[in-house]
Amino acid sequence: MAHFPKPFFRSARNAWFVQIGPKQVKLAAEKDEAFIRFPELVERFVVTLERAGNTVLLAGSTQNRPARLRVISAESTTECLVFLWTITPGGGGAGVRPANERRIQITNVGGFPLQPGIRTILVGWSPEAGVWSFWDPRRHSAFSPRSPSLQTNAQLLETAGARGLATQLRPATEGREIVVSVSADFLPWYVQQGEPLHNADVDADHVADLIDATPEAERELIDSSQSSDEAARRYELVQTMRAFRDARFRPIVLHAYSYRCAVCGTALKLVDAAHIVPVYHPQGGDEVTNGLALCRLHHGAFDAGLIGVRSDYRIIVNPAAANRLVEAQLDAGLDRFRDALPPSIQVPASIEVRPTPRNLRIGLEVRQLPPLLIA
Ligand SMILES: [Zn+2]
Repeated sequence: MAHFPKPFFRSARNAWFVQIGPKQVKLAAEKDEAFIRFPELVERFVVTLERAGNTVLLAGSTQNRPARLRVISAESTTECLVFLWTITPGGGGAGVRPANERRIQITNVGGFPLQPGIRTILVGWSPEAGVWSFWDPRRHSAFSPRSPSLQTNAQLLETAGARGLATQLRPATEGREIVVSVSADFLPWYVQQGEPLHNADVDADHVADLIDATPEAERELIDSSQSSDEAARRYELVQTMRAFRDARFRPIVLHAYSYRCAVCGTALKLVDAAHIVPVYHPQGGDEVTNGLALCRLHHGAFDAGLIGVRSDYRIIVNPAAANRLVEAQLDAGLDRFRDALPPSIQVPASIEVRPTPRNLRIGLEVRQLPPLLIA
């Protein structure tokens, strides 16, 4: 082993040691944690959510746990209490704890309050794997003050880093719990929609299979339930994993379009990833070539079939949809809307990520634009 001239040093595994005479003594987790302090962890959490297009409001200071956040997206607002620590290797000397154990050390909190309408998030950040891990606060309301640490393992963190998501069923303070790990792209999904994963129960091992499941496979999982409770739980699980699929699609598409609407060029964190061929369609997929970055206004108009994009990228207005708006006396602003449309969408510079002509054609057919305009 190398000689360390200073009394403190960090191992390859990111643990901190102190040299006392000839001995190397591992420091307590509180000391480990001092190297990513709570306010910095919260900042990382907030910045990751904001990069994904959310607005995050912090209530009060981030000096003490929990941090109180309001996370606002296009679809929802989520109030959260965030208890956050750094994930470190297990304590003790060699052989005391399994080498692949990873954990958070619960410090300076008395418990995890559960209140209706507020999400209590019990989370660790792993600098080693670059992922977030979430424990189930309902299973730790009476955690032991003598050994206040929550475990997971290095494989789970690695899998989450590689695939975006990993789950693990493990013993908890009360019963068993499902630990959920996600990479940075999926933090917003977990905060807003991932909670039902902790209820996966016996399906914990199949959660990852649901990511790319067909509608038939989803149906089969729900239909094979033994009780209506189980069916309801599985239905929620299927919805949660559909949202995961959207969360996977979004950053790829937004990145390709530099976070700007393909129609009007607006950024302003008001841009969504739209499917050209809808996901419910047999040809609908999550490839970037089936996506368009659109602002909220143009996404709504596109999904409703008021505007369409031809295979030569020209933007067309659907006369039938416009007429329906006139008949319903909901056509205020239609002329201004139409006049502001450019002739064509802005496509990414790189050809491989542009929408394919085939997807654009199916997209127009599905939304019932007149065949004459599609050709
Ligand atoms: Zn737009």
